[in-house]
Amino acid sequence: MKAFSGRTRVYGIIGDPISHSLSPVFWNAAFSALGEDSVYVPFHVDSQKLGDAVRGLACLSVKGFNVTSPHKESIVKFLSRLQPPANSLRAVNSVKIFSNGEMEGSNTDIGGFLSILKKEGVPKKALLLGAGGAAKAVFLGLCESGVETVFWANRTPGKQLEPDSKYKTRVVPVPWNEIDLIKAISKSELVVNATSLGWNKTDSLSALQKSLNFRKLYIDLNYCSKSNLLIEAKKCGARVIDGSEMLVNQGIESFEFLTGNSAPQEIIRSSVLACLAKEAQ
Ligand code: NAP
Repeated sequence: MKAFSGRTRVYGIIGDPISHSLSPVFWNAAFSALGEDSVYVPFHVDSQKLGDAVRGLACLSVKGFNVTSPHKESIVKFLSRLQPPANSLRAVNSVKIFSNGEMEGSNTDIGGFLSILKKEGVPKKALLLGAGGAAKAVFLGLCESGVETVFWANRTPGKQLEPDSKYKTRVVPVPWNEIDLIKAISKSELVVNATSLGWNKTDSLSALQKSLNFRKLYIDLNYCSKSNLLIEAKKCGARVIDGSEMLVNQGIESFEFLTGNSAPQEIIRSSVLACLAKEAQ
């Protein structure tokens, strides 16, 4: 067990739920590999207590933290400033805390997602599921890469986009029901799941099972190896990419933003893959 002292630098991640997050695994592996006197802690934060929690982290001299569902958008109002592209997205996944208590937000999800598109190529048409903080980063990534049409579906209607977004003409809103989702999948080369669906045992989406096939690429931001959505997409013969690659790439960028040091990329990647392989057993 590592010994901590008053000099140990503390980082963390806030979310609700938080127990599934792999960020503590690879951050702490990275600190060990670099011999740094730092630790990364998961904090369960209820939405009602977000403001108190954020102010508390600053008071406790935490150096920086990551933000996961459902706080990526609601945290913005507690921050002193945002770096691009977090300022246009109004969604943040990394927050640096300065010694005077100021907090700067950044969004590394977009870079994590773009690293996948770079390898896989850019489709003309894509279906995006979800409209939370991560989905908004994916949307920007798709548009900036040159995707012409984004069919965009969310369980709660109307949350997809601010009316003044420069990419609003590329959006075709899709109602959240099986028939409309199947139609949108049939027109898309790529389907991205940026909802929280997949973490619970009972989660499923029948439209995917009925319309994915070997011609489609399915990217799921979630990395739960037991996700029914991932399992079904593979059964349909679609090319499937889970959230582990995005986790690694956004994590590397976030590590460098929050600590100011180069990230040990191979340690980060191998610790994530080892943990996922263990969970899949
Ligand atoms: P968020 O802001 O809380 O948004 C959650 C989204 O999921 C919303 O669109 C919500 O729809 C939808 N949703 C939740 N439960 C649903 C259900 N039962 N049926 C249909 N839709 C449902 O979360 P986020 O930060 O955008 O993250 C979304 C997911 O992506 C999370 O699971 C997160 O772990 C994952 N993620 C992974 C990475 C990675 O590096 N691999 C990075 C970022 C995020 P409503 O608007 O209707 O509530």
